[in-house]
Amino acid sequence: MKYCSICGNKNTFSFIEGRNRYHCEKCITIHYQNPKPTATIICLKKNKILLAKRAFEPAIGEWGLPGGFMELGETLEEAARRELKEETNLDGEVIGMIGTCSHYGTIFGDILSIAVEMKVSNFSKIKAGDDAQDLSFFEFENLPMIPFHCHNKFIQEYLSKRR
Ligand SMILES: [Zn+2]
Repeated sequence: MKYCSICGNKNTFSFIEGRNRYHCEKCITIHYQNPKPTATIICLKKNKILLAKRAFEPAIGEWGLPGGFMELGETLEEAARRELKEETNLDGEVIGMIGTCSHYGTIFGDILSIAVEMKVSNFSKIKAGDDAQDLSFFEFENLPMIPFHCHNKFIQEYLSKRR
């Protein structure tokens, strides 16, 4: 954002169209910035929830829900299916929406997490992908520490919807 992606001039960061934004005074372009959406996955086997032990920062070695950033041209459902396949080698279908959660200023910038529930019919092919050190199913009464506020929020929302 330091330089204009249109003309290469140095951007100005100042108040324009209602807030501080990067914009180029030479070619009069405003460089809008928006949160990145992620598909975050709640997937149950019997009454246990699937968690992945992270292989990368942030929170390497900690447990969290599977999921990741949406790619251009994908629907949320396609992103969820792709991320589940990449991280767990499982084929699943989105069967419901859980909720959304915004977090700001992460190492990836501002994120809008969208949680979906996925149904997997066959768990026999489960295998941790490159993003995960390990995969496991946990009882809700016995969850490991999950260092992501949004993941904990989604689990609580899922449980309150299920009741
Ligand atoms: Zn420019």
